[in-house]
Amino acid sequence: MIDWEMVGDGYYVHESICVKCGYRFIHVRPTDVLLKDCECGKCGLTGFVIKTGQEIDDMEVAEE
Ligand SMILES: [Zn+2]
Repeated sequence: MIDWEMVGDGYYVHESICVKCGYRFIHVRPTDVLLKDCECGKCGLTGFVIKTGQEIDDMEVAEE
C-alpha cells in the first residue's frame, strides 16, 4: 500500500517494474531521483527499474 502521507509536491507516484527480475511495484520517488538511480526492492540491483506506463492517478487519495 502507498503511504499517502509521504506523497506530495516533489514526488512521482507510478507503477514500476524491474526488467532484471520482473518485480513490479508501486513506486514513490522524489522528482530529483532518476529512475536509473533507483534500486529494485527485490533483487537489489540499480539501473533496471523502468516505468510500466501505468499512472496511479485514479486511486483515491485520503485527505484529512
Ligand atoms: Zn529486480
